Amino acid sequence: MKRLVIAIDCDDVLTDTLPKVVDDYNRLYSTNVGLEHMYVDHNSIPEVFGTKTGQEAIQRFHAIYRQEGYYEALLPVEGAVEAISRLAKKHELHVVTGRQSFLKSATKYTLDKYFPDAFTSVEHTNYYKDDTEKTATHRSKAEVCKAIHADILIDDHIVHGEDVLNAGVESVILFGDYPWNKRDSLVPGMTRCSNWKEALSEIERINGSRR
Ligand SMILES: [Mg+2]
Repeated sequence: MKRLVIAIDCDDVLTDTLPKVVDDYNRLYSTNVGLEHMYVDHNSIPEVFGTKTGQEAIQRFHAIYRQEGYYEALLPVEGAVEAISRLAKKHELHVVTGRQSFLKSATKYTLDKYFPDAFTSVEHTNYYKDDTEKTATHRSKAEVCKAIHADILIDDHIVHGEDVLNAGVESVILFGDYPWNKRDSLVPGMTRCSNWKEALSEIERINGSRR
């Protein structure tokens, strides 16, 4: 069996994140944002999130994320702990997350607690960058996946999946049946896995096809 390099997203793949974040956003800002609004086009952000600019919406979210202990309290996605433990014995795993750099210590806390010693590296790509934060550098998941020579990306966000396939990564597992990632058809190279059980089977299938 070939040792694959597998890049794995964090939010809503390893941890249950967005449903909680959206609830808190609506409570704090008296909005009616739905899970289907997650990852809308950047131009639509002000309208969906009730702000004057996209940056204002990003800053609102980051204020939620900066609450003490907020990210540390997130729980693993069902089946993730067992799946990662199994995969880490056979493959090289990396976390490739859109999370901001200011969440490094919170992310490390969660990974150490639920997924100890499973990951070779943890890459923060600052997907929704707050322009007032000068130290954070945005990187695409495609460039990170190429740099670590990933064979597979597991991610719940279709745009990241398409980007990495375009950059030459061979396989993407679109994780979860979430309101924000519904599609009638997927591009070649992308396979939906609704849960970790399906993801493990798909990784075995990919590995078998490369022998
Ligand atoms: Mg995610």
